[in-house]
Amino acid sequence: MLRFRQDTVTLESRDKSMPASLIGVSAGTAMVLGLKRISQTDAPTTAYLMVGEDCSSDCTFCTQARNSTARSHFLSRVAWPPYPAKVALPAVADSFAQGRIMRCCLQVPVSPGYLEQTLNLAQQLHSLCLIPICASIVLHRLDDVQALLTSGVERVSLALDAACESAYREAKGHDWTRRLDILRRAAERFPGRIGTHLIVGLGETEQDMATMLQEMVDRQVSVGLFAFTPVRGTAWAARPPPSLFSYRRIQAARYLLATGARRVQDLHFSAAGQIVSYGLSQAELRARLADGCAFQTAGCPGCNRPYYNERPGGVMYNYPRRLRPEEVEEAISAVTVELAFAEAIGEGVCSLPSGD
Ligand code: SF4
Repeated sequence: MLRFRQDTVTLESRDKSMPASLIGVSAGTAMVLGLKRISQTDAPTTAYLMVGEDCSSDCTFCTQARNSTARSHFLSRVAWPPYPAKVALPAVADSFAQGRIMRCCLQVPVSPGYLEQTLNLAQQLHSLCLIPICASIVLHRLDDVQALLTSGVERVSLALDAACESAYREAKGHDWTRRLDILRRAAERFPGRIGTHLIVGLGETEQDMATMLQEMVDRQVSVGLFAFTPVRGTAWAARPPPSLFSYRRIQAARYLLATGARRVQDLHFSAAGQIVSYGLSQAELRARLADGCAFQTAGCPGCNRPYYNERPGGVMYNYPRRLRPEEVEEAISAVTVELAFAEAIGEGVCSLPSGD
């Protein structure tokens, strides 16, 4: 087993921009990799690394945004202290070999040379081990997607973040059409190897989100689902997060659509775009959600992102592990509290396959 020195660079000692030889390692990841000693209840099952920092984009919700005054080395709620790549990458390979992590995720802000740096890191990591690597990155050309996929990256995540154009414009700016277009073309050219991120609570309706989730299912794009999280120093620090009821309804919708149990056309929405029915009886809906999987972190296989949206001991938007029976019951109750059921609205209900 490899042994590592406590080789982190102190946060205070660094310039704001990160040299290419350093890589941000999320605090939870650093613990799993043996680089840092902290106690955590739920360990990450993916190694989360940040490539560069200080993004030139200016998303209202992001700690790395151009005008964010959030502390350096933070992404959402999570600290990502920098480590030399020559220390972090072998540690990832070692943890993968020992079965402690299943994937490595490169989170890439738009900083100078970010694509070259990502290609370089992916190649280095791929030469050490065959861990599935994903890169969450802004790209405008299919050739760049291809370059990543041939340099050892298994999956490229092109984050839309917002589920509809108006929310995108408010939260991120004016290039919605370009972002959606590259995502669609990449999904067509590289089926099953493209992902995206969607954030609940940026101003979309539940109908907007469900419609976009269906499109992503149809295009075989995996969706990392997030709850908007206000963080100090960001433009939207004072904006409230989505209600847990709404988030649970979206989680249930994502799961039902992703498993093929429902299509968005089967769902019913209020005039304000809130989900009021999944077109299922209460018993069928409960049976579909009974294993609790709908409420676990969604995204690439093996991604559990502990406490990315949550405070330890606070509201669990995404569970980074299997749910306990009482947690499943609580989550299903939150989904169903404002619903009408198929038997009440007099429509045909879908039958569960036997053994489901
Ligand atoms: S879903 Fe998880 S592993 Fe995949 S790109 Fe997003 S954060 Fe990374």
